[in-house]
Amino acid sequence: MRLLVLPGDGIGPEITAATLAVLGAAARRFGLDLDLVEDVVGHESLRRHGTTVRPELLDAARQADGLVLGPAATFDFRDEAKGEINPSMFFRKGLDLFANIRPARTYPGLPDRFGAFDLVVVRENTEGFYADRNMASGSGEMLVTPEVAVSLRRITRGCCLRIARAAFELAQRRRGRVTAVHKANVLKIGDGMFLDCCCEVARDFPGIALEEVLVDAMMAHVVRAPGRFDVVVTTNMFGDILSDLTAELSGSLGLGGSLNAGDAHAMAQAAHGSAPDIAGQDVANPFSLVLSAALLLGWHGRGRGGERFIAAGAAIEQAVADAIAAGERTRDLGGRLGTREAGAALAARLEGAEAPG
Ligand code: NAD
Repeated sequence: MRLLVLPGDGIGPEITAATLAVLGAAARRFGLDLDLVEDVVGHESLRRHGTTVRPELLDAARQADGLVLGPAATFDFRDEAKGEINPSMFFRKGLDLFANIRPARTYPGLPDRFGAFDLVVVRENTEGFYADRNMASGSGEMLVTPEVAVSLRRITRGCCLRIARAAFELAQRRRGRVTAVHKANVLKIGDGMFLDCCCEVARDFPGIALEEVLVDAMMAHVVRAPGRFDVVVTTNMFGDILSDLTAELSGSLGLGGSLNAGDAHAMAQAAHGSAPDIAGQDVANPFSLVLSAALLLGWHGRGRGGERFIAAGAAIEQAVADAIAAGERTRDLGGRLGTREAGAALAARLEGAEAPG
């Protein structure tokens, strides 16, 4: 499996190094042939190449079996004319990674104030309220007069149908329940179309239960009783917000694994940002990117890679759960390990050796 690895900004290089240590251990344990190709995006790329992401990286990504993308300082990148491009958008749009899969669950050893849960947010990734990806050319946001801004939200039947199908297929491998989250009472046309598409796809999956919940009510339901949800499908912006909440409910934003998947390509990417406030201190939690990489191995396994990759992805997820239960955690989870030690502890678990004390 050839992986294009792009560490990104802030804590990106630290959590990527820890993730590569874990992938290396998984490759040894499961006999995976991993070929890692490293390159740069973000500030490092802007310094070296005059742009945050070079166009040729899209070809490199197409030739790879998957990408590991660290967080980028996207808030700093405002002017595309100056080479300041959001790398995340660049690959999601360029590779048509339409499904953003964001699992969240409670872990033994961490407080579960609202009860145990295990759910996945399936978020549309290529249109919606995202100014940088819903237009063929130009931005989806415009300043009509100095005091009037318009932000455009694009919703298409094709994108709604494929994200709904991704959610139902995932529910078939899980507990057989899909919740469509929307605001069709206000956005009657756009979210009405999204909801219609979910109902249309549901007819192809008679064994899967579909319920619908308004997005504002969902915020209350998911805090009150997260255990009632299995697969939650929603449009881009709602999914972005909801999945940060579910990651935090699971214990920390640093536990939010995230896979961006299309029909031909997939990219592991932590759900959180570049966390400049803690960058370079060896305190960031690497588990989010590690769990994202585990999702990527599973995706590759179900496609070309076969059972060993599926088993390796599952073993990494189990190693994270075991490490958390054993107290091998970074400080955001109440532990004392540094980023590097947390990665080494997972690698040691995967290889069956004693974790460092
Ligand atoms: P953030 O997610 O980087 O940080 C929010 C808070 O969570 C901070 O207190 C941070 O220290 C903490 N945190 C985040 N990840 C953590 C981890 N792994 N371990 C421990 N603590 C962690 O959000 P922000 O500060 O609003 O954004 C910082 C930059 O990241 C901005 O430029 C933003 O645009 C960018 N961003 C990038 C992505 C991406 O590349 N996918 C996503 C979100 C934000």
